[in-house]
Amino acid sequence: TDGRGIFRVYSPEMGSKMRRYHYLLEEMRLALATQNFSLSFQPIVHVEDCSIDYFESLVRWNHPAEGMITPGEFIPIAEESNLILELGDWILFEACRQMAAWYNAGMRKVRISVNISAVQLKHRRMHQWVMQTIDKAGLPPSALLLEITESCFIDAPQKVIEEFEKLREDGVQIAIDDFGTGFSSLSTLAELPIDVIKVDKLFIDQANVNPKYDKILNSISELGQHLNLKIVAEGVEQAQQFELVKKLGIQCVQGYLISRPETSRNVGSKVLNSNFS
Ligand code: C2E
Ligand code: CA
Ligand code: CA
Ligand code: CA
Repeated sequence: TDGRGIFRVYSPEMGSKMRRYHYLLEEMRLALATQNFSLSFQPIVHVEDCSIDYFESLVRWNHPAEGMITPGEFIPIAEESNLILELGDWILFEACRQMAAWYNAGMRKVRISVNISAVQLKHRRMHQWVMQTIDKAGLPPSALLLEITESCFIDAPQKVIEEFEKLREDGVQIAIDDFGTGFSSLSTLAELPIDVIKVDKLFIDQANVNPKYDKILNSISELGQHLNLKIVAEGVEQAQQFELVKKLGIQCVQGYLISRPETSRNVGSKVLNSNFS
């Protein structure tokens, strides 16, 4: 409670939140049935030469009456209701299908990443689910990367960790997302079956403002080198941030400075004609 007593539970504001929840849940079910979701793709590039390392798939919902509804609003509802399972099945297949098409059109060095939520880790047998999906989509496992948040990793039971280990043996890569917000210890980090660390935007935003964050970024960068992990700086918006990240030895960046998330159509025409960014 908020300390003001139980009346708060029945406040009109709560009622409207509940209505919005149920409304969006119903609308999401409809959107799944009518193919109203789509994916956007945002490049993660090498600091060195700005060549693309991979694309992150980001789900988009263009509601017929309300326009774009952000994943920040609907993903939590999808998670709470378990609709994320169905939606997530669609997202993984669609991302793999799209990447397979690009792969076959000649985009061979670029990979695709998909965000996986805690609910999916709990209810899907990761290895079987992912391998069957990429097989159906005709995508080689080495072209896929899964993004799992740091907080998910912290809570993950051993059997989920083993699923990731099996996936890595088959060539699928694993990234730890929003790193720095979940407080995992450095010793656990060394044990985790991961290939990539995505440093949360919060650290990038602070880095030019507060010198302490410079030092934190620097130690994450060194840690990456020692553990042989690729580091990605998320949410790079300014040239100054790009320069700092480069100076600190971080290999990859993602952010509006390089590119916003784009439709598959735009990605296809830009990358296949190789004049991206
Ligand atoms: P995330 O996984 O951390 O994704 C990165 C978010 O940061 C994306 O927001 C992206 O558009 C945004 N971003 C990238 N560069 C910049 C930048 O330079 N500045 C700023 N301000 N933002 C930047 P988006 O697409 O709104 O997604 C928000 C969150 O929703 C994601 O955070 C992720 O947690 C969730 N999400 C999005 N798509 C999916 C999905 O397909 N599946 C699942 N499970 N979650 C998703
Ligand atoms: Ca992500
Ligand atoms: Ca992230
Ligand atoms: Ca984030």
